[in-house]
Amino acid sequence: MIYNNKEYSEIKKLFNITNFRKSQEEIIRSVLEGKNCLVLMPTGMGKSLCYQFPAMLLEGLTVVLSPLISLMNDQVTALKSLGIDATYINSSLSKSERESRYSNIEKGKYKIIYVSPERFKKDDFLFVISRRKISLLAVDEAHCVSQWGNDFRPEYSKIKEFREILNFPAAILLTATATLRVQDDIIEKAGLAPDEVQIFNEGICRPNLSLYVHEVFDEPGKFAEIYNYIKKAKGTVIVYFNLIGSLERFSYFMDLKKEKYLVYHGKLSGQQKRKAQQKFQSSTVCMLATNAFGLGIDKPDIRMIVHAEIPDSLESYYQEIGRAGRDGKSSDCILMYDQSDLAVQMDFLEWKNPDASFIKKTHTLLKSLGDKLNSFTQEDLQEKLVFRDRSDQRISTVLNLFDRFNVTEGSIETFNLKLVSEIPEEIIADDYINLKRESDKQRLVDMVNYVRTEDCRRACIHNYFGVNVTECGNCDNCGKSID
Ligand SMILES: [Zn+2]
Repeated sequence: MIYNNKEYSEIKKLFNITNFRKSQEEIIRSVLEGKNCLVLMPTGMGKSLCYQFPAMLLEGLTVVLSPLISLMNDQVTALKSLGIDATYINSSLSKSERESRYSNIEKGKYKIIYVSPERFKKDDFLFVISRRKISLLAVDEAHCVSQWGNDFRPEYSKIKEFREILNFPAAILLTATATLRVQDDIIEKAGLAPDEVQIFNEGICRPNLSLYVHEVFDEPGKFAEIYNYIKKAKGTVIVYFNLIGSLERFSYFMDLKKEKYLVYHGKLSGQQKRKAQQKFQSSTVCMLATNAFGLGIDKPDIRMIVHAEIPDSLESYYQEIGRAGRDGKSSDCILMYDQSDLAVQMDFLEWKNPDASFIKKTHTLLKSLGDKLNSFTQEDLQEKLVFRDRSDQRISTVLNLFDRFNVTEGSIETFNLKLVSEIPEEIIADDYINLKRESDKQRLVDMVNYVRTEDCRRACIHNYFGVNVTECGNCDNCGKSID
């Protein structure tokens, strides 16, 4: 190790740290010793510091791989405000901005750079990065490498190659949620053996969230109960719906009660979404949303999150309730369970896992449309492929799949979708499709088990994510009730 205690204290001062949280310091010391680490830590608990702090003491450059362009910008702005020499390189930069940052890298500037995984496909980036000594590779949102998780990104699964390109620096892999299966997958995709990685699992369910499941038997009964919860809430509420249809029926119910509310779902225009998000940030009006409402919610005092329908997995559920109580104050998370909602999840499951023939049929259609594709909406494609059932969502799954595997460029929403390659064999292989469908089914089964368990609900979630916990005393099964 090439730092001394004086430097260490100076860096602490730089980041305004008086006391580290939980195992932060242990993680930082491991990274400084050149060990590879997998860090599982809830959002808002100081994950970034685990690589930013060592970056300041390590001799070479720290490269941070991040899938989210907007978050890169925020992180770099925050670092710069502390006087830290950091930058990012992604597709949002103009050519001249990019070139000037490349030349800075070559000149030895920067301690930390954020890059998107696509960058590793660009020769000019590979050239400048090869001129620097890389001390640390940090991989943010590391669960994106795994096809067993919610946010799989194929280009993200090449971490092993990236490590090789960077000449095998120490790696720190960070995520807020990963099941045991996903943890194994992260380590494997990084090209590391299990005994080469130190795992720090900080637990995932914040103790200030109270967990409840409320069983209902029909929609009117459900709506009445949700309404009661909203009236009881001591601050901002989000009600999540799986379907825009049920969201709209509930908003009609709220109209009859003359209640104010906000709405957010995928069918709103960009401007409507921004407006809803802004209003939500600055008021305590109840938000009715689909899971499209998520990224970028940065409101510390959300006091209640109600799920009107069962989510597809505990990963999704955990991610969504994790938006409550960021200020550490007690907050309620209520899942409304109507057994008949499972049928909708089963439909989703089929839509999320179209078979090979449907994928091929979509590809053939895009090909036959050629340039005419630019005037097509998703609904037009839908009509051509599944004219009988308008609720069928397979087309949106296939378009996503094509985008993630670089079969297409551009997007149907912006009328510049373009077919650029054939279908990779791996996505139409029966093995892959069957495994994926079985895995999604199992995740739904685990979600239902959470609903049905008579044991501590927090223990159930922790168990799912491979963390041991004793009874929490803060869920309905532990005797807690909403006052
Ligand atoms: Zn409990």
